[in-house]
Amino acid sequence: MNVIEIKNVCVHYGAIEALCGITLDIAAGDYVAVIGPNGSGKTTLFKAILNLLPVSDGAILLYGTNSRQFSDWQKIGYVPQVSRQLHKGFPATVREIVASGLLSAKKFPRMIFKNEMEQVRRAMGWVEIEDLAERLISELSGGQQQRVYLARALVNDPELLLLDEPTAAVDPATRERFYQIVKDLNQKNGKTVILISHDGSQAGQYATKLAYLDKHLVFYGSFSKFCSSPEMTRYFGPHAQHLICGQHGSMEEKR
Ligand code: ADP
Repeated sequence: MNVIEIKNVCVHYGAIEALCGITLDIAAGDYVAVIGPNGSGKTTLFKAILNLLPVSDGAILLYGTNSRQFSDWQKIGYVPQVSRQLHKGFPATVREIVASGLLSAKKFPRMIFKNEMEQVRRAMGWVEIEDLAERLISELSGGQQQRVYLARALVNDPELLLLDEPTAAVDPATRERFYQIVKDLNQKNGKTVILISHDGSQAGQYATKLAYLDKHLVFYGSFSKFCSSPEMTRYFGPHAQHLICGQHGSMEEKR
């Protein structure tokens, strides 16, 4: 079953064309890494999927429904790029931030009930941050904050996760743990994942498919196909193939 169908989509900011001619389907259970240079339209694509930006051409179907009419938003969890600066002195605890994810599925009056705190505990458990529950978000490292926002996106137990990976410096071990958690959510909990990756060379370690954007869709397919394509050289340069594709095969090959 297709979770998302993107049909010949263009998105403009006024006269600026950010994306055009994008056509791709994402099936339930897929794990898609979205790569592309800065300004290539990756975040714009997410915003269009989430109906935060109108498409100027084409259509996006979510679970078979045009995104303009779609209302089942609790099926979709979104983790935006988070800047640590944003939280300087912000007085909310981790538990409160995660619980705030419950509000997105509610209509007025937007209240959180005691029995819903079990959902908050479950989401914190999935990303292993229960021990941080009473800490202030502003006191946490970038990697810990990343997990808090992942938990907030998971609190309604969505079927589809959209993750805009932060560019902020996160050490390799923290980053690796984050990828492992997301991989488990995909493989063990059956969640469909779309992740904007700023390190395309890592993408083959966890994603089953790769979408390479540069205002248009340059490549969409498995990482192994990408490795033997001319687009690989275009993105990483002529000497990168052995380093990126030789060292570690894609998840698809390991399965
Ligand atoms: P990426 O996520 O790949 O770095 P974006 O989707 O953020 O790229 O941006 C795609 C293009 O759209 C860029 O040229 C960017 O400058 C432009 N853009 C993004 N947001 C806005 C905005 N709010 N107003 C005008 N142009 C924008």
